[in-house]
Amino acid sequence: MPSRKAKKKRLAPKKRATKLAAIAARKRRAKISKVAKAARGGSDPKRVAAILAKLDEAYPAAICELKHENAFQLLISTILSAQCTDVRVNQVTESLYKKYPNPQAFAYANPSELQQEIRPTGFFRNKTKSIMGASKALLEDFGGQVPKTMDEILTLPGVARKTANVVLGTAYGIASGVVVDTHVIRLSRRLDLTKHEDPKKIEQDLIRVIPKEKWIQFSHQLIWHGRRVCIARKPRCVDCNLESICYSKDKTV
Ligand code: SF4
Repeated sequence: MPSRKAKKKRLAPKKRATKLAAIAARKRRAKISKVAKAARGGSDPKRVAAILAKLDEAYPAAICELKHENAFQLLISTILSAQCTDVRVNQVTESLYKKYPNPQAFAYANPSELQQEIRPTGFFRNKTKSIMGASKALLEDFGGQVPKTMDEILTLPGVARKTANVVLGTAYGIASGVVVDTHVIRLSRRLDLTKHEDPKKIEQDLIRVIPKEKWIQFSHQLIWHGRRVCIARKPRCVDCNLESICYSKDKTV
């Protein structure tokens, strides 16, 4: 009968082979999962194309929901829309644009009156300053017209990249960047198109992965999706046509 020591010696190569096979299998699995992760990762062009196709399918006619008749009205409505819904802004601007039809009217408005008129949109004191300041700057520097370049429009008081992108994209059809509002921030992160939280960095990530000809429509579509389906607190994933390519931790299915 072989001694215990001899038996152990005889089994050792077998054990070693099993162990090596297990290690190799583990490495293979890790490699496969790495490849799969890369394939489904945020900036993978095929996945980005699939996201864009699904957004086109769901929202072929997405547009800016702020009512306006010209670039100036859109500029004012966008300033008013900070921390406020488009529905509320549209309610306020219905009468506002009758009383203040152009930059002159806003520039020389009575500030206290204007404050009360836009009060329902919130932050009415700051918004009044921005609206009057932007209107004066339009008259003094741009002949009363909303400029058509990012650099120029950013010189207007109270106007940052989000407002500039809305006005340039929607009023003039100029793709100067991607509108990054609260919906675009949330959805870009859920769809793994960015890891950032800062709007400027998110916009840079989106500009890198979204083809330029889609920048304007992509913003509208993401905002529509954020309002209708991928809502902040409890996304309606069961109704979402992006569900099969969404890996968000917030998913509800
Ligand atoms: S699956 Fe859910 S979390 Fe992902 S995009 Fe759709 S609604 Fe948003």
